[in-house]
Amino acid sequence: MTVSKPLQPGTLFVIVAPSGAGKSTLVNALLSKDSNIQLSISYTTRGPREGEVNGLSYHFITVDDFLERQNNQEFIESAEVHGNYYGTSKSWINQALANGRDVLLEIDWQGAQQVRMHFPNMIGIFILPPSLTALQERLHKRGTDSEAVITRRLLAAGGEMAHAPEFEYVIINENLDSALNQLSCIVAAARLRFNQQFSRQPDLFYDLGIHAKAN
Ligand code: 5GP
Repeated sequence: MTVSKPLQPGTLFVIVAPSGAGKSTLVNALLSKDSNIQLSISYTTRGPREGEVNGLSYHFITVDDFLERQNNQEFIESAEVHGNYYGTSKSWINQALANGRDVLLEIDWQGAQQVRMHFPNMIGIFILPPSLTALQERLHKRGTDSEAVITRRLLAAGGEMAHAPEFEYVIINENLDSALNQLSCIVAAARLRFNQQFSRQPDLFYDLGIHAKAN
């Protein structure tokens, strides 16, 4: 007997880290090894860095455009970070999750707090550097930002890391391979939660006489 698929959204992962913790490298490594996860492309008023592509790295928009979209409630979350505006498309997230896709947001702690209000079941992951010295070195090595921007980001890092306790998981990114392995374990565990398994295999659960959770 075939039962209709319950409307169970995909899993929402929210990854936060201070600049220089190696978040983007880690996220890119996860995305290239796990094609089931889709990365949300944020909107920002920041100018593109060298090598960044509009529509792939970010949707780069003007402040006026951003404020209009914010006013029209097009963002599920938005925040000012390091002097620029950033926001996540509400319709894109809702659509992807409704299609059963796993979605990953790479945002700041303010955005994570807003997203949690809409999706209390989201999986929050905080990436930490192995030391403060390593964080400073990584920001300098990146070479994409001016000295003034680096100093501002270092000052902000302390404030950002103070929000680590709000997250379910913490990864200390000393070594890319082991951090990636830990991130993959978190993703795998999240997918094995009852609701996710039930929604993926309703026929099996029905055959085994297992019913959906009451809530
Ligand atoms: P960057 O300008 O270096 O790409 O990002 C700066 C900070 O903004 C990072 O902490 C990044 O995670 C955060 N950020 C990127 N996109 C969004 C977004 O859509 N919403 C929020 N709240 N933060 C974002």
